[in-house]
Amino acid sequence: MAYTIPSEKEIEDALRIVIRRMKAVGSLRKLRELVIKELRIKNPSYTVGHDRLREIAVTSPFVHTHIEARHVEERKNLKGKCPVCGGNLNKTKNETIFGGTVTIGYKCNSCPYWTTLKMRVPTRYRFEYDKEHS
Ligand SMILES: [Zn+2]
Repeated sequence: MAYTIPSEKEIEDALRIVIRRMKAVGSLRKLRELVIKELRIKNPSYTVGHDRLREIAVTSPFVHTHIEARHVEERKNLKGKCPVCGGNLNKTKNETIFGGTVTIGYKCNSCPYWTTLKMRVPTRYRFEYDKEHS
């Protein structure tokens, strides 16, 4: 069976319905299952990839995302891009005793992801309904 890719608006609408009903979903895998089920009410051939859904979910105002991560030893080169949503990363800086600043990590512009120089690799997501911003 061939799949059809829904528009961003359709994914957002399905996501809103799911998260409002569930209040909280404890993993991206589960969220994707539920959103696809919702999308297929409109079109049985609809699907959404987990990367695309994650990017939409973490940047939706009505979803509050908790990112669990583990630290890895080696410094990964982030190339200024967020590994969660693809947004731009800002350097977080600390003042040194010499009056200069030193980069201590990075923080995403558009989602809750942050990392120190010891890279935080996202391992699990928890999505909660944020009724203040629905
Ligand atoms: Zn991000």
